[in-house]
Amino acid sequence: MSGSTYLVAIGSNRRGHHGAPRDEVAAAVQALPGLVAAAPIITSAPVGPSIRQFANTAALIHTPLEPADLLGELKSIERSFGRRRGQRWGARVIDLDIILWSGGAVMGRGLTIPHPVFRTRDFVLAPLLHLVPRWRDPVTGRTIAQLHARLTRRRSVPSRVVAGAGP
Ligand code: AMP
Repeated sequence: MSGSTYLVAIGSNRRGHHGAPRDEVAAAVQALPGLVAAAPIITSAPVGPSIRQFANTAALIHTPLEPADLLGELKSIERSFGRRRGQRWGARVIDLDIILWSGGAVMGRGLTIPHPVFRTRDFVLAPLLHLVPRWRDPVTGRTIAQLHARLTRRRSVPSRVVAGAGP
């Protein structure tokens, strides 16, 4: 089959034209080129002083687009979902990131695939686990299932250390 397969992460923590973050994420999935499958949308509690819920998912797409051209498409989708004036760049209605590409790794100006920090983000790894548990990260050689297991294991370490260090 010609073309490329990509895993795209989708996130929102702002209301937009479509409604709540969950509705924005669902609409963004439908706007992606070459959609093959999408993971269930997860919502997570706001972090820190924010009162906004986060909604996240990931999608598997198949497209003839090269990575740089796909990034351009994703940026145009982000723009079409809108940004509120006066908000910092990070506070978009929709955030779209290219996480993995069937062609391997890309280290270009303004584009790095695999996405540099996806291995430490449960809200990215959990949806990926639904779609491609055996996909191998070309940088670490680990599968998505292994990366997810490492992340969730690592997170429970501090409490075990604290428990063991008590009187
Ligand atoms: P962010 O605000 O975190 O979405 O970052 C957006 C910028 O990161 C984009 O303008 C891209 O140029 C750059 N970028 C680098 N690697 C990626 C990637 N794998 N997916 C999406 N954006 C990327």
